Amino acid sequence: MAVNSKRTALIAGNWKMNLDHLQSIAFVQKLAWTLKDANHDFDAVEVSVFPPFTDLRSVQTLIAADKLPLVFGGQDVSRHDSGAYTGEISGAFLKALDASYVIIGHSERRQYHGETDEIVQAKTAAAIKHGVVPVVCVGETAEDLEQHGPSAVPVAQLTTALEGLSGAVDIVVAYEPVWAIGSGQAATPEQAEQVCAALRATIAEKLGQDVADKTRVLYGGSVKSGNIAAFMREPNVDGALVGGASLDVAEFAAIARYQKHVGV
Ligand code: PEP
Repeated sequence: MAVNSKRTALIAGNWKMNLDHLQSIAFVQKLAWTLKDANHDFDAVEVSVFPPFTDLRSVQTLIAADKLPLVFGGQDVSRHDSGAYTGEISGAFLKALDASYVIIGHSERRQYHGETDEIVQAKTAAAIKHGVVPVVCVGETAEDLEQHGPSAVPVAQLTTALEGLSGAVDIVVAYEPVWAIGSGQAATPEQAEQVCAALRATIAEKLGQDVADKTRVLYGGSVKSGNIAAFMREPNVDGALVGGASLDVAEFAAIARYQKHVGV
C-alpha cells in the first residue's frame, strides 16, 4: 500500500538522454511483462516512464495498442503554447500524445539550461493549462545544504513554482537533493521525510490542505531497490523519481514492487 491511503504511490523513471525509440519499445515491453508476471498492483503503485521526446510516439503507440498498465511523460515542456521557439515542445503536443506527466525544473535543466525558478513557474502553469500533470522538481545543492539547511531552498523553489495557481490543481512534487542525484549517496529516509513534509506544508499554505493531502510528493536521488522501501515508509514520501536505476528493467521493476520485497 501507499503509506498514505489518500494518495496512490508513483514510481517514475527519468531516462534522461538514454534509449532511442527502438530501445524504448523493447524496454517498455519488458517492463510491462516483468511487472505483470509479478502480479504488480498498478492501482496501488502507478509506474511511469519519462523517455526522450523522440521516443514518445513509439511508447504511446505500444502502451495504447497493447493496453499496457503503464503511463508516460515528457522530460521538459515549453512555457509557450506554440510559435517561433526552435527546439521547444508545447504542452499541447504532449497532451496530444496522451502524456500523463511532464518533468519540470529537473536540476540538470536548472544547471545546464539556465532554468530559473520563474521559468519553472511558467512551465508549471503551461503544463497545467494543457492538461499534463507537472512533476515539479526542487532540491538543494550541497552548498545550499551547508548554508541554509535542508528545506529552505526546496521550499523557496516550490513557493515560486506554485505562484499564480489556485484551486484543485493536479501536480506532483519531486524533492531531489542535487547532491544525491547520480552520486550513489541517497538522502536518509528521515532527511527526505523532513523536506517532503515541509513541501507539503508549502502546498497547503499556497493551495489549501485538501490539495496538499492529495498531492504526491516524491523523493529522488540515488534510489534503488535496496533503499526504496525505507523511503516509502515515511508518511510524506509518496513515491520516487528514479534516474540511473530506471534504465535497468529488473531494477526499476523491483523498485516499483517495493511492497513485495520488503513488505511495507
Ligand atoms: C534524477 O536525475 O532525477 C535522479 C534521481 O537520478 P538518480 O536516481 O540516478 O540519482
